[in-house]
Amino acid sequence: MGTIAFIGLGVMGRPMARHLATAGHSLRLYNRTPEKAECFAADHGGIACATPLEAARGADILITCVGNDDDVRQVTEGVEGAFQALPDGALFIDHSTISARLARELADNHPRLHCLDAPVSGGQAGAEAGQLAIMCGGSQAAFEAARPFLAAYGRKVVRIGPAGHGQLAKMANQIAIAGVVQGLSESLHFALKAGLDTDALIDAIGQGAAQSWQMDNRARTMVEGRFDFGFAVDLMRKDLGLVLEEARANGSSLPLAALVDQFYADVQKLGGGRDDTSSLIRRLP
Ligand code: NAP
Repeated sequence: MGTIAFIGLGVMGRPMARHLATAGHSLRLYNRTPEKAECFAADHGGIACATPLEAARGADILITCVGNDDDVRQVTEGVEGAFQALPDGALFIDHSTISARLARELADNHPRLHCLDAPVSGGQAGAEAGQLAIMCGGSQAAFEAARPFLAAYGRKVVRIGPAGHGQLAKMANQIAIAGVVQGLSESLHFALKAGLDTDALIDAIGQGAAQSWQMDNRARTMVEGRFDFGFAVDLMRKDLGLVLEEARANGSSLPLAALVDQFYADVQKLGGGRDDTSSLIRRLP
């Protein structure tokens, strides 16, 4: 089965690691706040370690799910980073949403490892249920080696292309979501101003061409003004920042994504940085 070093037991990482433990894998765990790793080990097994380096000792698979580029760099290549303890041929799977540039750089700079950038979509609920969509970038060999582990929490696991292409696919995902959430916000804002029965409306148009995951899962809570769950605006702004940087580099034109990024900045100014992305409707008076 191999020993897995798992780094980052947050909202997404913890349930992923739990699915791996349930599937019978041995885990060496590291989390910046040590209590989370200790708590996980007490509940689900595994060994809580003091540094990423220690977690990687004796492991032949490294899985990370941390925050941004700097965090990934720190836990992999940093002073007490995991890479230095990994043997040649080890598998490195990164589930963090980061730049495609860093994903490519890590793969290029560490050819002795099988690197896979594997960002996810499906949120906390998807991670808890083991129902994530996982977009992978890396060699076919890295993908094949990773598949049995990703199966523990992935409903759809797809190799998109070489290193960095998992992150680029995640960016395409976020571009599509940004536009849909703004469209749904405007639709519901209009319906409320027009005095429509929104329950009846959502029931009707949710079965037609306007149907979307956002409509199925968020329209009713948007009408109720409930946003204290889900995928945080702060994380979406991080992701849209990556999107807009990549778009500048590849020459794509993303007027709506750029606008929605600014709208999310408005939501942050309203104090809603930790609210779900559906809170975009809040800035419509
Ligand atoms: P989170 O709850 O903040 O968890 C991040 C984890 O990484 C925390 O346990 C944190 O440690 C650890 N960490 C962060 N920076 C670190 C560093 N420099 N060194 C060591 N450990 C570090 O975030 P999350 O929601 O799980 O998201 C993780 C990744 O998945 C992000 O890249 C996010 O964009 C992506 N993602 C999230 C969602 C979602 O719905 N939440 C959906 C899709 C993708 P502490 O416990 O000390 O804070």
